[in-house]
Amino acid sequence: MRIAMVSEHANPLAALGDVDAGGQNLHVAELSAALVRLGHDVTVYTRRDDPKQPETKRAPGGYRVVHLTAGPRRHVPKDELLPYMNDFARQLAARTARRRPDVLHAHFWMSGMVSALVGRAQEIPVVQTFHALGTVKRRHQGDADTSPQKRIAVERAVGRAATRVAATCSDEVFELVRMGIPRDKISVVPCGVDVDQFTPDGPPAQKGAPRRVLSVGRLVPRKGFGELIDALALVPDAELVIVGGPAPNRLGRDPEARRLRDRAKRLGIADRVHLTGQVARKDMPALLRSADLVACVPWYEPFGIVPLEAMACAVPVLATAVGGLTDTVVDGVTGLHVPPRNVHALSAKLRELLANPAWCATLGAAGCDRARSRYTWDRIAQDTLRTYLRCPDLAERAGRELVAGVRR
Ligand code: UDP
Repeated sequence: MRIAMVSEHANPLAALGDVDAGGQNLHVAELSAALVRLGHDVTVYTRRDDPKQPETKRAPGGYRVVHLTAGPRRHVPKDELLPYMNDFARQLAARTARRRPDVLHAHFWMSGMVSALVGRAQEIPVVQTFHALGTVKRRHQGDADTSPQKRIAVERAVGRAATRVAATCSDEVFELVRMGIPRDKISVVPCGVDVDQFTPDGPPAQKGAPRRVLSVGRLVPRKGFGELIDALALVPDAELVIVGGPAPNRLGRDPEARRLRDRAKRLGIADRVHLTGQVARKDMPALLRSADLVACVPWYEPFGIVPLEAMACAVPVLATAVGGLTDTVVDGVTGLHVPPRNVHALSAKLRELLANPAWCATLGAAGCDRARSRYTWDRIAQDTLRTYLRCPDLAERAGRELVAGVRR
């Protein structure tokens, strides 16, 4: 099958951890590579955000990345990209007219808008993965939400126009249905984890205290690092390592990093809270293995790949019971759930887990089993293909090919 991934801001070749580069970049990269392994031809269309980027680049995973010039050739925050989407759509249309894909798989709402236009004009089915929803963001962030005003209305239209919608978790299905998107065109296709890279075996990074709590993510308030620092003040003899944000040499200038460090200082625990800044992917497994537990405590989370990475390394996860974390982390089996933004519940569970290493090992082992049996990228690629094949055009073609195969 010839697959066009459309991912306007999330370039699969980007380094992860900085403000607009996280799970979505990884999802597009790993899914594309897994589909190539299954014998498909995959091209990712993304916006050029650096003048040095070549027009087309072959990624190590075997898929092509095409950089379309739409707007300035530099990083532009994703919430400011909407005005450039017409240009992006024109260029995408020119490419797909020359080399027609069997399916357009759009990632994020603006890619969905572009793909809906191109798909309708060229009669190509569109599968939509939102990754995050404007309604949820607005609910949690209120006036701090910098998304364009039109986002929620456009998202609804994109969901209705798409041939199929791939939700990353069951909570997202409910949101989509509430938005008026018909349930029968939604499939759940979660994100995955590279279980060859994230393993329980291998050297752990060095610890700075007897007990280590690790938390990983882009340095944005909704990831809950602030609450985690408050909770740590109530947990003796443990250090908190926060991974993510700009590269270490730029971390001092990051306003969120400064805010978190000030918070730790005010609570008198600055010596127990360490911010590492961005960490390369190759160093992530050792860092995860060095932790007694990984805390993923966002206010809300469309999916959350970090819990899967921790589980694959057999580390228990303390997670807020929100979004994708309610699917991936099984309360009492692979980790524990806590309500979001609740410092007392968080500190109580931290103390409970850290006091019981044998229990942590049991939860970690169960997490590893779950990651390996349900969340490998090969399995996710199969789920994705099944979703593509439920698009009427592709289902019909697959049926014809099957019949032809049987006749041969
Ligand atoms: N990550 C990384 N280096 C960092 C910070 C994060 O490689 O310094 C990776 C992390 O391991 C995970 C991804 O970025 O694979 C974050 O994905 P997640 O879905 O947890 O969060 P998002 O960024 O999408 O909100």
